[in-house]
Amino acid sequence: MRGARARPPAGPSGAIPFTRPAVTGRELDYLRQAVESGRLAGDGPFTQRCQGWLESRLGTAKALLTHSGTAALEMAAILCGLEPGDEVIMPSFTFVSTANAVVLQRAVPVFVDIRPDTFNIDETRIEAAITPRTRAIFVVHYGGVACDMDAIMDLARRHRLMVVEDAAHAILAGYDGRPLGSFGDLAAFSFHETKNLISGEGGALAVNDPQLVERAEIIRQKGTNRNAFFRGQTDKYTWVDVGSSYLPGELIAAFLLAQFDEAERLVAERTAVWQRYHTGFARLEEAGLLRRPVVVPRCRHNAHLYPLLMADLPARSALIAHLQGLGIAASFHYVPLHSSPAGRRFGRTGGSLAVTDDVAGRLLRLPLWSGMADQPEIVIDAIAGYFRMLNR
Ligand SMILES: *Cc1c(COP(=O)(O)O)cnc(C)c1O
Repeated sequence: MRGARARPPAGPSGAIPFTRPAVTGRELDYLRQAVESGRLAGDGPFTQRCQGWLESRLGTAKALLTHSGTAALEMAAILCGLEPGDEVIMPSFTFVSTANAVVLQRAVPVFVDIRPDTFNIDETRIEAAITPRTRAIFVVHYGGVACDMDAIMDLARRHRLMVVEDAAHAILAGYDGRPLGSFGDLAAFSFHETKNLISGEGGALAVNDPQLVERAEIIRQKGTNRNAFFRGQTDKYTWVDVGSSYLPGELIAAFLLAQFDEAERLVAERTAVWQRYHTGFARLEEAGLLRRPVVVPRCRHNAHLYPLLMADLPARSALIAHLQGLGIAASFHYVPLHSSPAGRRFGRTGGSLAVTDDVAGRLLRLPLWSGMADQPEIVIDAIAGYFRMLNR
């Protein structure tokens, strides 16, 4: 921990980047082992160890490493058995991959509004968006804060819909004592450089419904029964279904295993930063100058993001510019998909998206990475100083 803190920040001296990839120190050892083993294609020993780690953490029937979170979402969309014109309910306030996965199956994303507190899909607005064509609900645990999975799973059961968790932000986060990514039929994780645990590019699909495991393996292996063949469960290795190449090579898995080894520490370091921000902004929230993220009692978040809500869009733009002048990289977040060119072309709205539009215009994310030393206090002081200057 001390070692990580002693490293200088990246970029020009004094500048505080928005994110910085954390490296645990064991990555190069594992990469060397992989290289020296001569086993570099996917599904080797490092992949097996990463999948085993995920399976024990999530309690899932099968975890499959993928080359990205996007790939895991695409596999999930195929496994939902979507037909052209089928509908999938999802938030508009998400990354493009949540919707693209569905559109690639010629299905229609139906965008539902988010809750003003957690910025997650508003579970009370889902039912009104269900039609006879609805097949699935794709939820996103924004910033590693859980959606209301009780209400969503209940709704899905009553309407016989599949549930996919976009858990790209949510590794090691929980809800009512259960890990996120273990509630839906399927869940997609991302290990992109900007996420909590990383392999540059990378992802995983958690297959929670045991009946989907065999097909998931086939889809990931180019539509072949390669995995079953190598387990000796079939005597022919052949093309049996649609599929693509969704698996990463062993070098990615070797890097990722080093991150999994230190996962608790990496999340604890982020959580400490998150908590310093939270304490540091209490007074500004009391003064009505901004809103801190809402702490939800049943959720154990993983400190993936620290999102502040500003008064309005001009207030946010002004603060981003001010921080930029001080070398502090703060950032807005998603452009709502329902208002994007492709979202309008391929999707439709399911009810009002007033909260989404409002939040997207005012939300501001602060720098957050494990290994931050005094940077959180510099950011807090910069924002407090900004408001003092405005009030003079
Ligand atoms: C990062 C992210 C993805 C995509 O993950 P990649 O690994 O970059 O493909 C999908 N959904 C959400 C919500 C994300 O934040």
